Amino acid sequence: MADDAVTASWAHGPCTWSILVHGGAGDVAAERVPLHVAGCERAAAAGAAVLQAGGSALDAVQRAVEVLEDDPCFNAGTGACLNADGAIELDASIMDGSTLRAGGVCALAPFKNPIAIARRVMDASRHVLLAGEGAARFAQEQGFARADPSSMITDLARARLAAAQAKRATEGWAGGTVGAVARDAGGRVAAATSTGGMVNKLAGRVGDSPIVGAGTYADDATAACSTTGHGEAMIRVCLAKTASDATRTAGAEHAARASLAMMHARTGGTGGAILAARDGSLGLARTTRTMSWAAVTDDGSRASGA
Ligand code: ASP
Repeated sequence: MADDAVTASWAHGPCTWSILVHGGAGDVAAERVPLHVAGCERAAAAGAAVLQAGGSALDAVQRAVEVLEDDPCFNAGTGACLNADGAIELDASIMDGSTLRAGGVCALAPFKNPIAIARRVMDASRHVLLAGEGAARFAQEQGFARADPSSMITDLARARLAAAQAKRATEGWAGGTVGAVARDAGGRVAAATSTGGMVNKLAGRVGDSPIVGAGTYADDATAACSTTGHGEAMIRVCLAKTASDATRTAGAEHAARASLAMMHARTGGTGGAILAARDGSLGLARTTRTMSWAAVTDDGSRASGA
């Protein structure tokens, strides 16, 4: 399939361990792009420190996403965008490619690090995905503290909601969903994704990010993938699983390009995807104007962009 819709892509060859993070596809204002890239670099470095110390890909992607959730620049955790009621509702998921275990939370009330709760769903519940009040109750039972919403809502998020509602825009991208993919020295891959969703979304709307196969996927036989973009389109084409599967016959960069091109051709939706393949090679692509990202690999080399 022709991939003219793809606006940028990047690749790195096989590595013993590697990590790649994204800070969301969208149209981030030029003056804010350096902030987003710097945030991604900090997150990739935090995840790389886990891998460097012999830690698992799963722990590395969780750590990287926590750093991005704590950074108010991004539409995840602190700084998450607001729904039509002016409230934060969070979506997140994580997946381990060696066991195919996964955990997610969706339409979750404000908690500082939803990715840690998604991990706990994976590790300590019988389920893969918990929603709304049930997810919040589980989190509290597991010792996570509910956050005061005002501690997580930024002026930027308020301004974006006001702008969307003034334009009567049904919803808009916040351009700051976050995600990470990694391969560890043991050959295991993992992926994690976290978001506040879309600005001015209806209360209760769930996007692709907490959905295994749409926003997040990891399989040691193929690749780990985290996606960002128009969630409704990404759910319909199971973007993360589609892109991971494509690495059976193509490199990670080409797999990202081809799956985004297919989504654009079939649904009109745009976005971005990052991949860590089973051999530790990395690839990304976007069909939007921007997607901040950063990578670190076993030889200490670093790369980043938007
Ligand atoms: N995919 C996210 C959602 O639809 C938004 C984004 O990636 O910016 O909830």
